[in-house]
Amino acid sequence: ITVPDVELANGATIPQLGLGVFQIPPDDTAEVVRQAVEAGYRHFDTAQMYRNEEGVGEGLKQSGIAREDVFITTKLANDAQGYDNAINALEGSLQRLGTDYVDLYLIHWPLPHKDLYPVTWTAFTDILRAEKARAIGVSNFQPEHLDRLREQSSVVPAVNQIELHPLLQQQELRAYHRAHGIVTEAWSPLAQGEVLGDPVIGEIAAKHGKSAAQVVLRWHIQLGNVVFPKSANADRLRENIDIFDFELDDADLRSITGLDAGHRTGPDPDTFEG
Ligand code: NAD
Repeated sequence: ITVPDVELANGATIPQLGLGVFQIPPDDTAEVVRQAVEAGYRHFDTAQMYRNEEGVGEGLKQSGIAREDVFITTKLANDAQGYDNAINALEGSLQRLGTDYVDLYLIHWPLPHKDLYPVTWTAFTDILRAEKARAIGVSNFQPEHLDRLREQSSVVPAVNQIELHPLLQQQELRAYHRAHGIVTEAWSPLAQGEVLGDPVIGEIAAKHGKSAAQVVLRWHIQLGNVVFPKSANADRLRENIDIFDFELDDADLRSITGLDAGHRTGPDPDTFEG
């Protein structure tokens, strides 16, 4: 299976589909990552707060895949914002992952009540210059947070990783990203499973002979989103990457657009305090 690449503003490329490892227990992570590599995954999305970076590094090592053939994203822990903390925290990630660079380093949450994300971004641009990250970006940023970064720095975030799925389609942020060359990464692309029982999705799945999860992931791909559905199950890992042999038509896409309900499964970035 070949997963298409998406180009980031600085010219680096990211595989459009990967594996998210949020809530995979640290002790299981290496084995899941190894199985994912076997199934064709070349992009892994972890975070300091997931406490399983070591497992990701170990799984990649066990798989025998070359470092340059995988794309690794990690995210700065919420309690490590600030200039020095952000730089030191990345050193810890690199050690745990067993590598000397990450492909993408993200500010995990804006935490507007702390107002540290602007100075944290300065650290990130220095990290980029030192080539310890091939690209830098943010997660859970709202338009006003992105505006602040654009005012202070010429380095625009390569991605904004936001909650996005058929029940929360994020039209406003997606338009902002398009206008500023920011790639949209969709977290909880399956709404943590909540959308999989929807009858509209079920009908489209039956029509194409695919599963509900495959239809939702295919919808993301056709929208241009980067996704990394989480699963620790070998069959589902294979199912979730097997979405490049069919296409949703305009009627399918319109039906899914109709499911938008502004429904969050996770915290609201404006009020989340970490
Ligand atoms: P998800 O939408 O990927 O859903 C995962 C759930 O769906 C799991 O419970 C799994 O059992 C189930 N599932 C997966 N594949 C399935 C299939 N084929 N059939 C039936 N059920 C299936 O939710 P998520 O794990 O919250 O999000 C994915 C990734 O996004 C995370 O692992 C993490 O990397 C990232 N994320 C980032 C943030 C952030 O703040 N930046 C927040 C949450 C998640």
